[in-house]
Amino acid sequence: MSIEERLKEVERKITVAAERSGRKRGDITLIAVTKTHPAEMMNEAIKNGVTDIGENKPQEVRDKFCDVLPVKWHLIGHLQTNKVKYVIDKVCLIHSVDSVHLMDEIERQAEKHNLVMDILIQVNISGEATKSGVSKDEVEELLVYAGKLNHVRVKGLMTVAPKTDNSVTNILHFDNIRQLFVDIQHKTYDNVSMEYLSMGMSGDYETAIEHGSNMVRIGSAIFGYRDYSLK
Ligand SMILES: *Cc1c(COP(=O)(O)O)cnc(C)c1O
Repeated sequence: MSIEERLKEVERKITVAAERSGRKRGDITLIAVTKTHPAEMMNEAIKNGVTDIGENKPQEVRDKFCDVLPVKWHLIGHLQTNKVKYVIDKVCLIHSVDSVHLMDEIERQAEKHNLVMDILIQVNISGEATKSGVSKDEVEELLVYAGKLNHVRVKGLMTVAPKTDNSVTNILHFDNIRQLFVDIQHKTYDNVSMEYLSMGMSGDYETAIEHGSNMVRIGSAIFGYRDYSLK
């Protein structure tokens, strides 16, 4: 299948899932994750209506970034503090913030560039040791910390669900983070507004949307399998 055909199928499924949860296609942001794929494939997706591009690594943002393209860039993968400077003036949203240390560096770099960076707090909802992100209990500390910063705004939460055949467990994880998202919405923290709940990837985006996600990060369902050996 071509990227165009795959994208149509993804669009259709997002629309159905949104409607099943009482929303519209327009309420969901689709981020096309182009990691490991060349710029030509990314351009093909953009030609077919993609407006948001997600990259895992700061280096790939640097390599593919082009400010004449009519798209927004998202950094979705783990971010080391020493790499913040490579993406600070390129991305619109950093999804993977999981420490005050990283928030401090984003603040520092954003101030340098005279901009305000939008971030999501990455939550390790399953408690899996291999996953990045903070535990549910550590989220509040980061939200409070954001109140001290002038160049960082928290816009929501992000999570990566475990790869599993047991979709029932992942539904519980999605419902859990969704509840956390809603709980935070009902409180007031400076520089925090819960607008985006970034959850759902190729294997689980329909379920994630049905359980409250409004931002999905989809790679292989649009671009096919990734060959990491090429990198
Ligand atoms: C690679 C990646 C995705 C997309 O994964 P697919 O399963 O190919 O859709 C989404 N989120 C993050 C954080 C990723 O690293």
